[in-house]
Amino acid sequence: MKQIYLDNASTTPVRAEVIETMLPYFTEEFGNPSSIYPLGQTASDAVAEARASLAALINASPKEIYFTSGGSEADNWAIKGFARANRSKGNHLITSAIEHYAVLHTCQALEKEGFEVTYLPVNSDGLVDPEEFRAAIRPDTILASIMFANNEIGTIEPIGELAAIAHEAGVAFHTDAVQAFGHEPIDVAELGINMMSVSGHKLNGPKGVGMLYIRKGIKVANLIDGGQQERGRRATTENVPGIVGLARAAELAYAESDDVRERQIAIRDHAIDRILAEIPHARLNGSATARLSNNINISFEFIEGEGMLLQLAAKGICVSSGSACTSGSLDPSHVLLAIGLPHEIAHGSLRMTLGRDTTLEEVDYAIDCLKQTLSNLRMMSPLYEDYKNGNVASLIDQEKAAKASA
Ligand SMILES: *Cc1c(COP(=O)(O)O)cnc(C)c1O
Repeated sequence: MKQIYLDNASTTPVRAEVIETMLPYFTEEFGNPSSIYPLGQTASDAVAEARASLAALINASPKEIYFTSGGSEADNWAIKGFARANRSKGNHLITSAIEHYAVLHTCQALEKEGFEVTYLPVNSDGLVDPEEFRAAIRPDTILASIMFANNEIGTIEPIGELAAIAHEAGVAFHTDAVQAFGHEPIDVAELGINMMSVSGHKLNGPKGVGMLYIRKGIKVANLIDGGQQERGRRATTENVPGIVGLARAAELAYAESDDVRERQIAIRDHAIDRILAEIPHARLNGSATARLSNNINISFEFIEGEGMLLQLAAKGICVSSGSACTSGSLDPSHVLLAIGLPHEIAHGSLRMTLGRDTTLEEVDYAIDCLKQTLSNLRMMSPLYEDYKNGNVASLIDQEKAAKASA
């Protein structure tokens, strides 16, 4: 069966060029970068080159790049490490309600250590309001962590503006840029970012490798103690193949990101227009404009996300839903609830995220299948039956009517 992979915010395939770059470091160049003989030095040079290349891509210095095991570790390290190292300056952190769990659960863990955390609400597009952010800053606030772009609804936050507000108040600024790095241009100096998390497998690089940018002068306690790797700040023998793979994937991604973005936006907007025009009781989640080029997130009323996903999976279409049932929880996505969706609408949500070579034909085929699936599911839905009998209203249609008359 033909497979159509539209879940690139979840993970991406590793590019052939990236594998080719990585391969020698598993075999003939397997040395430990800490060893002084040539085999070790070759590996050490490869890590140094990757570090320099990644630094250049974000306008940082190589000394400010630290390799990690992925985005989650980078988020944990930035937030826990900074909070613990700067506790004498204050006890309060600010984040947003729509962060990835790598940030949210890290903040919750810090609350157990006695830190106080403000979880900023977002507006209906998923945007943090800079003025609300300013108002949340207290004299004891030490760190703010606001994601660059959201992994579920694709909303891109006003990072430069938020970082400037943080700095005016002497607050350090971290951003989880896992979904944005390799896709959106990022200049950490211009944007005023103090720490930034990145992951390899969201940009056609390998899983299990990521990086944390830590601006010079920012104090962060170690998360992993041991040897002197990463200038004594993160122990464990370097994941040399992963590191060179991450750098190669990022170089390739940025070399073509303008072209990819333009192509994806055309497909994305075509898909959104088609779905909203052809499927009744549907709404777009996230900002229409401040949005990642590869993200489509739509809620369908009178639909249960789980059933929709299963039927689409049976047709070879790999997508994800705003219902978290698959991950063992019955609650709908915290992101969809934070943008104000009622539970029943958040449950019937679909996320399609395009890859660098996703075609219009693939997306059109997926939408054809989606239409079929939704009409089957609605035919069997008692809720839809109620709606057709005039017993319940369509909340999405009411929202549209309210917007139209406003
Ligand atoms: C995927 C993701 C992470 C976690 O990255 P891993 O490398 O899988 O640990 C963190 N934040 C965001 C926004 C993500 O999309």
